Amino acid sequence: MAEIQRNLIAGEWAAGSDAIENRNPSDLSDLVGLFAQAGTGQLDDTLAQARVAQREWAAYGLERKQAVLNAIGTELMARAEELGTLLSREEGKPFAEGKGEVFRAGQFFTYYAAECLRQIGENADSVRPDIEIDVRREPVGVVAVISPWNFPTATASWKIAPALCYGNAVVWKPANVTPASAVALAEIINRQDIPKGLFSLVMGSGRAIGQALVESPQVDAITFTGSVPVGKGIAAAAIQNLTKVQMEMGSKNALAVMDDADLDLAVSLALGGAFGGSGQKCTASSRLVVHAAIHDAFVEKLVAGARSMKVGHALDEGVQMGPIVSDGQLQENLAYVALGKSEGAELACGGARLDMPHDGFYMSPGVFLNTTNDMRINREEMFAPLTSVIRVDSYEEALSVVNDTNFGLTSGIATRSLARATHFRRNARTGVVTVNLPTAGTDYHVPFGGRGDSSYGPREQGKAAAEFYTTVKTAYISAGIPE
Ligand code: NDP
Repeated sequence: MAEIQRNLIAGEWAAGSDAIENRNPSDLSDLVGLFAQAGTGQLDDTLAQARVAQREWAAYGLERKQAVLNAIGTELMARAEELGTLLSREEGKPFAEGKGEVFRAGQFFTYYAAECLRQIGENADSVRPDIEIDVRREPVGVVAVISPWNFPTATASWKIAPALCYGNAVVWKPANVTPASAVALAEIINRQDIPKGLFSLVMGSGRAIGQALVESPQVDAITFTGSVPVGKGIAAAAIQNLTKVQMEMGSKNALAVMDDADLDLAVSLALGGAFGGSGQKCTASSRLVVHAAIHDAFVEKLVAGARSMKVGHALDEGVQMGPIVSDGQLQENLAYVALGKSEGAELACGGARLDMPHDGFYMSPGVFLNTTNDMRINREEMFAPLTSVIRVDSYEEALSVVNDTNFGLTSGIATRSLARATHFRRNARTGVVTVNLPTAGTDYHVPFGGRGDSSYGPREQGKAAAEFYTTVKTAYISAGIPE
């Protein structure tokens, strides 16, 4: 019997009220581990200790904080192969993506380690004579981090690293389908020179421990990445306590492929954007808005590319697309395939469950043709290896279709025209826009976030993170007249 992996409560590794099994979606006979489920009593204990630890941490010297974040980031990067293997084993993304994710998570910590030393305020003269004003940022307090399974280490890290950098305590509720990566990261953080209980790990279901966490008046700020319905529930809970909240949610990102695009480049952007991570990315290219003049040539290569993708066990050499994360997610994907067909879309390839030597949640990458932007498959986030082609007759129509969505996270254009690229960059109603690059794949030192139903509250990452993880204090100082 495998040992039960524990939660980190008030600075101690603690057993839970219950435990769950975590199995490899590439091979269900592979038990990744057993993971304790935190109880609500433990949540109260850890929140109380976090409050005390946060004050101590905020008073640490800047270089001491910097050293802690640097050590976490350096260890993640050094262990990217080992922890990437674990991540791919429990989440199902191919090993290169798992390893890359852990390395990127390390870069979030080293970036925010350096930011520890760059927390510089502003000063001003008062409108009243002989009075000076000092404007500085202070920690917000105890931050609840609620993260999803699709980037279990990176998403958590781009929240935890700035939270710690700006002097806060963290209580982290990871997704229950990816607890092993969470325990590994928590173990690294807890080993550092931090006050006892500054960082907590509370594993358990969103409906139970997650809901209790977001309802707690002991939480000063909530940062969440996940689905729109859960996000709306979290915002409603947060408002009861007037808790600060920031949320990254769904998307329906479009890649516009113009008649003057480099055809091979456009096809590779579409394939990578649609099927990377099995399409389970908030930045996935799920709508391909294609100019009629290039449509047939583009579709021929796209479908051939999707058909030739190697689907298999996440840890097997040469695999381009792993399994779907869970049976529930796979069933939803298959339901979207049936929905698309019933709406009149033509399924050109894929979209079917695959049998493999290992028992897992495999599905072939699917391409819908002859779709219109009002179909539900083009309006709802599917989070699946499925993409839809929408034919348009002009650049203007393409831009209008790209912007016709309730979401607004990323969008991209493939074109050789500087004028179109510039116009698109300025007029696409998304938080991130790309030119001749995939809609997925962003940097860590600049803001990330969207518009509409995609995001709520301040941007994440880069210097923009300070807005959420700090609160501003304006001090007025009358120095008096020297004697
Ligand atoms: P959820 O929104 O359900 O889960 C995201 C996180 O929130 C998980 O840690 C989850 O815990 C937690 N959670 C769930 N319910 C609550 C609650 N009431 N209070 C507090 N926390 C809660 O997303 P799913 O993982 O179920 O995925 C469903 C769909 O959401 C996907 O198909 C996709 O469309 C979208 N999604 C979008 C993401 C993005 O990056 N844009 C990321 C993930 C999902 P637990 O999982 O343990 O229950």
